[in-house]
Amino acid sequence: MAILKSSNPQAVAEARPAELDASKLVVTLAKTLKPLPVPESLVFGQTQTDHMLVMNHDPVHGWSAPEIKPYAPLSLDPMSSCLQYCPNVFEGMKAYLGPDGKARLFRPRKNMERLARSADRVALPPFNTDALLTLIERFIQIEKRWIPTKPGYSLYIRPTIIGTRAALGVAASDSACIFVIVTPAGPYFRGGTKPISLLAVSESVRSWPGGTGGHKLGLNYAPGFAPQRIAAKQGYDQILWLLGDDQRVTEVGAMNFFLVAQRDDGDLDIITPPLDGTILPGLTRDSTLTLANAHTSGKLLLPSIPASQKLHTHERVLTMSEITALSAQGKIIESFGVGTAVVVAPVGRIGHEGKDLILPVHEAGLGPVGKAMYTVITDIQTGRRQFENWSVLCE
Ligand SMILES: *Cc1c(COP(=O)(O)O)cnc(C)c1O
Repeated sequence: MAILKSSNPQAVAEARPAELDASKLVVTLAKTLKPLPVPESLVFGQTQTDHMLVMNHDPVHGWSAPEIKPYAPLSLDPMSSCLQYCPNVFEGMKAYLGPDGKARLFRPRKNMERLARSADRVALPPFNTDALLTLIERFIQIEKRWIPTKPGYSLYIRPTIIGTRAALGVAASDSACIFVIVTPAGPYFRGGTKPISLLAVSESVRSWPGGTGGHKLGLNYAPGFAPQRIAAKQGYDQILWLLGDDQRVTEVGAMNFFLVAQRDDGDLDIITPPLDGTILPGLTRDSTLTLANAHTSGKLLLPSIPASQKLHTHERVLTMSEITALSAQGKIIESFGVGTAVVVAPVGRIGHEGKDLILPVHEAGLGPVGKAMYTVITDIQTGRRQFENWSVLCE
């Protein structure tokens, strides 16, 4: 039997838990491929593709060789931490086809950084974010035929990390599984953008100071399902989550909230709540603020908004009473929610304390700023327009 000496560099390397290493990828392709669905028939998040990307961590060996293999159920010990204490985190991103037929990701490093922060928040083992991005790009190349070629369609990507420590003690999960699945997605609004209605809710809160609302943790979402059902019964599409005695607006369902108000000097104010830990730092939120500032500095001209009209961005507290007052003064131009799934969703009505606040109606659903953002962001995502290397080719 060989004795491992510490002077042997190979043995030293093997003794340490391994880093996540994309060059160790093992690809096993499915023997038969599934028929592609008719794009028009897609329901969000209900189509399984041919493959999945999986890698596991344990405290002794570190990260296993990543695998791309046929899509199949996972096998978990029933004591797994993820089934008990929810150390589960995820990301939402998309692959888009450009006019050249190439697959692209939108600011994917931001998703990887956010995933690493989420994992750290629930004490999951760290991973190399560059390696995971390289693996996701490889995975998208393999699943590329699932990206519908129709405009407005994309491949939704769901990187997920679950705690797999098989023990019931209430403690951090030192074992984990990263898996990435994809599903073809159609435009959020079929047959044209339609304003959504919101029920302002303060009895239940989505997030709170010192809580976890600023991270994409699975445990943030289930507590919203019962309030969402109540809102739906009252005829509202989504919840406008309020926080505190002053009824600060936080988010819309699982989207970031924006309000556009007319200023006396003819310019526009664009207001969104600040990243104080209760707000999920959305990529679409950041892109909206960056593009508005780029318009104002003259770096990029937003379509249909005059160059002379400046967009003043504000990341600050916005209360329901301020929104009600701005509405009464006729100063609200538009309000919208933003996120990867929808890009921009116009808000048409807010139910608050038994009354409905009606927001301005615009042709085609979106107001001037929302429409400009939708156009520019989707143009960058599909590679029709270049901006700051936001669009990354998957090859
Ligand atoms: C994912 C998410 C968003 C939107 O983030 P994007 O990066 O723009 O997709 C906003 N709010 C919540 C609560 C979310 O989970």
